[in-house]
Amino acid sequence: MTASAQPFVPATGDLPTLKAAAPGCRGCDLYRNATQVVFSSGPHDADVAFVGEQPGDAEDLAGKPFVGPAGAVLARALAEAGIPVERSYLTNAVKHFKWHPDSRGRRRVHDTPARTEIMACRPWLTAEFAVIRPKVVVALGATAAQALIGPSFRVTRMRGQILDWPAAAEHPANFPALRPPARFVATVHPSAVLRAEDRDAAYAAFLADLTVVAGLLGATNGHSSAVRPAPAPPAAAARADGRTRNGPTR
Ligand code: SF4
Repeated sequence: MTASAQPFVPATGDLPTLKAAAPGCRGCDLYRNATQVVFSSGPHDADVAFVGEQPGDAEDLAGKPFVGPAGAVLARALAEAGIPVERSYLTNAVKHFKWHPDSRGRRRVHDTPARTEIMACRPWLTAEFAVIRPKVVVALGATAAQALIGPSFRVTRMRGQILDWPAAAEHPANFPALRPPARFVATVHPSAVLRAEDRDAAYAAFLADLTVVAGLLGATNGHSSAVRPAPAPPAAAARADGRTRNGPTR
C-alpha cells in the first residue's frame, strides 16, 4: 500500500482540528523516530505561507517550526524585507524529523526526506492550504518546491521568479484557486545561508527573494510596494538550493 497521510487527515476542519489530528498520523514511518509531530505556526488567515522541508533537531524537541538556527535567519530576513510575521504561516512539507545518529551516537544528523515521504505527507499540506488560502506561497528550498511544484522544479534556476498559484502546482486541483490568482515564489531554505561559503552573499540573495515576496504582499494588500524582480543571486548563493549530500544544516 502506498504511504499516505490521507486516512489521518480530517475531511473538513479548521486549523485546530488539523493540529489535533496530526499527532495520530501514521502515514509513513517517520513518526517512529521523531519526538513529536511539528505542525505549523501562524494565523489561519495568513497572507503568505512559507513551506520548509521538515523540522530540524530544535524544532523536533520544541514542537514548533523554525525555532532553530535556520529559523533565526528566516526571522531576520522577514523583518528586513518588511514581511509581518504575524501575517505569515510557517509550515513544512514533512511534519516529522528524519534523522540518523552520528558515529558516536551523540548527535542527530538530518536526513533529506525521500520523495515517497514527501508525497505521503502532502495531504496535510493541501488541508492546510484549504484553510489558510494564502495570497502568496513561498517554497523554502528544493524539498518544499518539489513537494509543491513537482520533482523537475529547480530552485537554483527559478528562485525569486513569480509564478501563478495554484496553476504552477503539481496537481493544482489539490489547492484552492483564488481570484485573482495567488502567487508563488521559491527561494533557498534558510539553512543554505548558514552552510554557504560566503554567508553574506547567500543572505543578500535570500533577502532579495523575500523582498520580491514583500512586493507581492504590498500589491495584494493595496499598498504601493512595487513588485520587483529578484537580482541575479551571487554565485555562492546560487549553488545553494537548500540541499547538500547530508541535507540542510538546522
Ligand atoms: S511525516 Fe507526515 S505522513 Fe509521515 S507520519 Fe509524519 S505527519 Fe504522517
